[in-house]
Amino acid sequence: MKIDVIAIFPEILEMALHVGILKRAIDRGLLEVCLHNLRDFAEDNRRTIDDYPYGGESGMVLKPEPIFAAVRSLELKETTRVVFLTPQGKPFNQKMAERFSLGTHLILICGRYKGVDERVREKLITDEVSIGDYVLSGGEVPALVLIDAVGRVLPSALGDYESAQNDSFSRELLDHPHYTRPAEFEGMRVPDVLLSGHHQKIMDWRRNRSMEKTAEQRPDLLRKFKNNEVLD
Ligand code: SAM
Repeated sequence: MKIDVIAIFPEILEMALHVGILKRAIDRGLLEVCLHNLRDFAEDNRRTIDDYPYGGESGMVLKPEPIFAAVRSLELKETTRVVFLTPQGKPFNQKMAERFSLGTHLILICGRYKGVDERVREKLITDEVSIGDYVLSGGEVPALVLIDAVGRVLPSALGDYESAQNDSFSRELLDHPHYTRPAEFEGMRVPDVLLSGHHQKIMDWRRNRSMEKTAEQRPDLLRKFKNNEVLD
């Protein structure tokens, strides 16, 4: 999987690529992430990438030329998906991360200011993705969210150490609680069942806690789970 990121502040993503699961996926050749500074594709000496919006309103808009030039500088495949991170996009979720992880090339375009010139959307973008119903100052953090979620579901990216087996959303329910040593901490004991060694009882306990947690925090998910609806 190759991911190209086009951004004004690509350095925001830099550090995250040098630690943990993403670093390992990159070191093992499962993932390649190339960061591109949009200013490198500006047409003038002042490296201008934004301009005033037509129609008169406050704020600035990312100009089309540098974004078109940046995308055109990349090797595009038939299956390349050009993703614009935007609060107007489809809500990002685990299923979407899994779908993206099946591809081989993503280009992520990070907006700033009021966003990008609409012609970028019209001509270049295949997917618009939002990481939630709030507005951030730029698309770099959303791009990192997407890369992290996609990177960790790439086949064999996760070691046993980070196992995703029962992660939230992997079974349409939220994850169950986890405990580690000591068995008692400041008067709080680890539930006896987890110390019992009884595999089936432990599985039942985990499933029940998952259901309780989902009912408490995400009744919408539990409803879907009970109706056998697949999350999308
Ligand atoms: N005017 C835009 C709107 O109301 O839809 C918001 C622009 S926002 C200040 C600047 C950039 O941050 C966006 O172009 C987008 O790339 C990014 N961004 C902000 N919130 C986001 C979110 N929830 N999901 C994905 N990207 C987001």
